[in-house]
Amino acid sequence: MKTRALCDLLGLTSDGLAEAARSSLPSGAGVANQLYQQVFATGLLEPASLGLTETSVRAWHEHFHVGLLEVRQVVDEEGELGMTSKAVLATSDGLTLECVRIPMPPHPDGRPRATLCLSSQIGCRMGCTFCETGHGGLTRNLTAGEIVSQVLTTRLKLGWECGNLVFMGMGEPLDNFDALAQALRVLGDRRGFAYAAERITICTSGPPGAVTKLRSLGMARLGLSISLNGGSDGSRGALMPVNRAHNLAALTAELAAYSQRKNFVLGANYCLIPGLNDTREEARLVGEFCRAVGRVLVNLIPYNPGTVPLGRAPTEEEVVQFSLWLKEEGCALRRRVTKGASIMAACGQLGGATPL
Ligand code: SF4
Repeated sequence: MKTRALCDLLGLTSDGLAEAARSSLPSGAGVANQLYQQVFATGLLEPASLGLTETSVRAWHEHFHVGLLEVRQVVDEEGELGMTSKAVLATSDGLTLECVRIPMPPHPDGRPRATLCLSSQIGCRMGCTFCETGHGGLTRNLTAGEIVSQVLTTRLKLGWECGNLVFMGMGEPLDNFDALAQALRVLGDRRGFAYAAERITICTSGPPGAVTKLRSLGMARLGLSISLNGGSDGSRGALMPVNRAHNLAALTAELAAYSQRKNFVLGANYCLIPGLNDTREEARLVGEFCRAVGRVLVNLIPYNPGTVPLGRAPTEEEVVQFSLWLKEEGCALRRRVTKGASIMAACGQLGGATPL
């Protein structure tokens, strides 16, 4: 007998669920919105709790399920702002992905704040040389439901409440565009998580045309940051093969056309690696890039050598020196405190070995 594949409710918006229920269930579709709210609050699909007939309850379970992930491991690292935690989660086909809870400065009233760093793929085909995820290539794309499930699974099973989301985990989010776009719709659904777009940031290496495609979604308040990591095609191309297909001039033009609102500020992540991208000339070229794009905030990230190090971590003096050069170039700058380095949860380290 052929079994029907169950539809993962976490990959649907509430309107999508109502429509799917109407078209596939013989009865009981009228409670779709209530069930949607129930699932996003509890992780449970319990149509019986809404007083449906046995036939309708069975039909719901025969068509839909909630794709929570299995928590395989959680590793913590204490830092100034609190605990940075990496969760290793398993999909239903036994593959593992990782997401990270990053503590942020607390709300003015003292309530804790955190950002959840999400994965969009298992592995990645972009091959950035400084990145643990890139070393193994792409295994597969995550579905929209699996992307959303990272938020629900960590909230329900680990108690992680994260007000901000950033796609900076495993994978190039814009290389899995359709699933990402659907996940963004689901994450913003007012009957579910209701994340405002400004609470979500997409971090991309900038594959050709991808930023323009993201703009076509019309989510004007969505945050965007680019992995820059070099001011010249030579240095960036050596670290990021994507630069050969889409050089800095082309990327700059695409980013300059991206803004959909007056106060948009592009994030530019710059992982500082001694001997590879830390010269005065690189800083000058980064300044040129920022001026050409518009409003840019450079996130300067000291390199964390992983299991296949490209070199050493920069010294404090080297980081300060490069920061000063960027300031001389007029760049707005934020030095990112490296969080989670000891648990392989820092930038470019997901998918690597997890020390126990
Ligand atoms: S840095 Fe991002 S885009 Fe580059 S290989 Fe790693 S996961 Fe992929």
